[in-house]
Amino acid sequence: METFSPPCTAAEALTRLREGNERFVQGRARFPTVQKEILAELAKGQQPFATILGCSDSRVPPELVFDASFGELFVVRVAGNVLGPSVLGTLQYAGSHLQTPLFIVLGHEGCGAVEAALASRFHGARQKNRIEVLLENIVPALDGLDDSQPPAMLLHQAVEANVRYTVQTLRNTPEARAREREALMKLIGAVYELETGRVRFLEPGD
Ligand SMILES: [Zn+2]
Repeated sequence: METFSPPCTAAEALTRLREGNERFVQGRARFPTVQKEILAELAKGQQPFATILGCSDSRVPPELVFDASFGELFVVRVAGNVLGPSVLGTLQYAGSHLQTPLFIVLGHEGCGAVEAALASRFHGARQKNRIEVLLENIVPALDGLDDSQPPAMLLHQAVEANVRYTVQTLRNTPEARAREREALMKLIGAVYELETGRVRFLEPGD
């Protein structure tokens, strides 16, 4: 069997993301440009240190948010950072082939997809058919939320609930259970704050 050494441990990967986000927030990002030599080196292969499932929202580009360069993050972006067959296939590829030690589900405050799912869940709002199919992935995450609170607070809670739901769904796959048990990878949720640029990592049980 081919031995594979990940670029770093899950804990080191998480530290790199935290530090990158801090540089981004402080306006000290490292990567205004990428040199040709780096591109040539990357053409030989990739060994990203983290896999990110994020939202398509134009305001949340993971590489910029984490001050990460080419070849460092394996990224899936889909509205509402939801799972689906293609997304699960992409994540399985990241786990089994790239073996990134860290998986992050990255939601964000003010997510339009989550807002639409709230409108569907609590007010019976309807969207176009394919959007409805997308929202069906978010609606179950909203069970237990109190819709009598102010809309901004409800959306804030729903964004986090949606991230936690996705993390839990992923964690329940046999593959993730085995890999987490063997400490081959770590899977956590996070929420990006649009106004500050800061990423809030959701530790289990928070
Ligand atoms: Zn969004």
